[in-house]
Amino acid sequence: MAKPVADSHSNRAAVQATNDDASASKLSCVKKGYMKDDYILFFVRRPVRRSPIINRGYFSRWAAFRKLLYQFLNCERDLNGKGDTKKQILSLGAGFDTTFFQLQDEGRAPYLYVELDFKEDEGRAPYLYVELDFKEVTSKKATLIESCGQLRDKVGGAASISREKGQVLSDHYKLLPIDLRDIQKLDDIIAVANMDPSLPTFIIAECVLIYLDPDSTRGIIGWAAKTFPTAVFFLYEQIHPDDAFGQQMIRNLESRGCGLLGINATPTLLAKEKLFLDQGWQVFLIIFLS
Ligand code: SAH
Repeated sequence: MAKPVADSHSNRAAVQATNDDASASKLSCVKKGYMKDDYILFFVRRPVRRSPIINRGYFSRWAAFRKLLYQFLNCERDLNGKGDTKKQILSLGAGFDTTFFQLQDEGRAPYLYVELDFKEDEGRAPYLYVELDFKEVTSKKATLIESCGQLRDKVGGAASISREKGQVLSDHYKLLPIDLRDIQKLDDIIAVANMDPSLPTFIIAECVLIYLDPDSTRGIIGWAAKTFPTAVFFLYEQIHPDDAFGQQMIRNLESRGCGLLGINATPTLLAKEKLFLDQGWQVFLIIFLS
């Protein structure tokens, strides 16, 4: 019997390749001045120039993400009303995302925050930044971090970096390999990462869950709701498979062997909202940018 698309090697490779596309598009945006990111160039082998519409799309993705992330980092108190500002970030399918490195320069990294004694209105540091992805991707990211001085400096001199294990372990940053569909392993991995489930947690899933089968996505969203009682889940991914744009997008991705396995189960914002509320999340917010 043929293997389901979700498990085929080519689909896995094609999904991983979307990370290279995202990185190249981010670099294109940076070069055109849409956004600042001094680190993405280290992750792009072949720079390309994207069309204005793609640059604008990436800009709005970045702006929406930043808006919410800063709200979370700048929020003084946790939901229990205590003055506790220790926070953590968990990025699912992080790919070559560079937010951790950028936050250091912006004064929101834990040790910079302490050393420079930032004022209250200048932001709060995530105590811990954890990134998860397939081992093929985390191994490449670990190798790049190890071989590039600017990146290595940011994770700290004492970091343990292993290309073979596909991991980077430092006090405030962890990069770890996992197949997110192994939901029972998620508890182990966050323990390895030293996450404290009781801390306010910002969970990121940017263009990741849509590639998974709907059961896995449901499992991950439910696991996150149960595991982190005080959390924000930032989801950014494709919707509307049936309009002209959506049909073309699906054709393009399928021609590269990359199915959007989740798109028909939650084709609209309403369906996404139901998915999250059914899995134990309490509020669903939609960000519109003007
Ligand atoms: N979030 C990043 C990368 C998006 S590309 C960004 O926005 O730039 C999608 C990423 O999800 C890839 O790096 C891919 O390897 C990862 N991914 C997809 N399915 C996964 C799975 N089952 N387990 C772990 N990582 C997965």
